[in-house]
Amino acid sequence: MKKIGLLIEIKDDEIKPANYGMITMAHGDEHQLFALVVNADTPAYRDALSGSGVTDIVDISTPQGAWHPDEWADAVVHAMDRFGIGTLLGLTSPQGRDLLPRIAAQLDAPLVMDCLTVDLDRNVARTTQYSGKAMADIQLTGGHYIYGVRANAVPPVPLLRTAGIHPFAAPESPASGLTVLATRPGKAGTVDLAEADVIISGGRGMKSGENFKVLHDCARAMGAAVGASRVAVDEGWVPYTYQVGQTGTKVNPKVYIACGISGSVQHFAGMKSSEMIIAVNTDPDAAIIGKCDYYIIGDLFDIIPEVTRVLEGGGR
Ligand SMILES: Cc1cc2nc3c(=O)[nH]c(=O)nc-3n(C[C@H](O)[C@H](O)[C@H](O)COP(=O)(O)OP(=O)(O)OC[C@H]3O[C@@H](n4cnc5c(N)ncnc54)[C@H](O)[C@@H]3O)c2cc1C
Repeated sequence: MKKIGLLIEIKDDEIKPANYGMITMAHGDEHQLFALVVNADTPAYRDALSGSGVTDIVDISTPQGAWHPDEWADAVVHAMDRFGIGTLLGLTSPQGRDLLPRIAAQLDAPLVMDCLTVDLDRNVARTTQYSGKAMADIQLTGGHYIYGVRANAVPPVPLLRTAGIHPFAAPESPASGLTVLATRPGKAGTVDLAEADVIISGGRGMKSGENFKVLHDCARAMGAAVGASRVAVDEGWVPYTYQVGQTGTKVNPKVYIACGISGSVQHFAGMKSSEMIIAVNTDPDAAIIGKCDYYIIGDLFDIIPEVTRVLEGGGR
């Protein structure tokens, strides 16, 4: 049996939905799946993890308890050692970007982030290269293998198992140069960009930060997340966490709605794998019009509020 660790992320006391696709990626007859849960009410997640194919849950507690990237990474490394886990999957999320490179560095292990698929028997990860223009299959070699998985890359498949819980108190970690002064959670009730099934994004066509309210209203009505092009971020209209693209977040939603976005190569690098792309643009010659599934030629400030009104039950 190959022992595979799955670094589970919890948000607002819930398992983040993207974890289930990651667990599905690790299914295999000869795979023993260890969910690694750090400083959380682990028994509350037992049924959900058992139902998705996990065989063992490692309930990790760190000396300080609170979020600390160095201490959490050290705790995961110790847990992997204790349970003989050689392969670790985590999400390519803000937390994953903090933890997985630290874990890989500590283990001197190869790391591939943003994996679309992972062949755990051959230790091969598939990811995009050159702004999404090429796919690369990357062969990992070494004693440990660390993969950051792109959220929503694989749909979750239930698999009923009975997972046992193993408490694991991590030892004191070596002195860290990092002190966490405070953590400020994002707005409650908002949908994570990387994990969203539906994203509505705005670009230069939004014209100001205040105008993003039009997208937020529509997103609320649809249960969607709000994203942006780099121009909207560089203009200071929305924070960097909104940016989709080559130098922003890479997303994989079922539906991506691009409003006032021309469709640059760099923007497409972050959203081209969306199942359906819808463009709202005043310019019929914009690059995105030739690359999307559906488009509306028109002013987003006429169209999006109307969509919101209909979604909120306003009728046609
Ligand atoms: C190294 C590098 C990395 C980059 N990384 C990224 C990245 O990660 N993400 C990213 O997005 N960009 C990135 N860029 C920038 C990228 O090249 C483009 O400049 C950017 O994506 C363009 O943003 P935009 O589509 O919002 O603006 P524009 O290209 O200016 O397009 C604005 C669009 O809005 C339409 N419009 C205007 N008003 C309205 C209206 N009222 N209603 C409807 N439509 C309207 C216009 O017709 C136009 O098509 C990167 C560039 C470089 C060089």
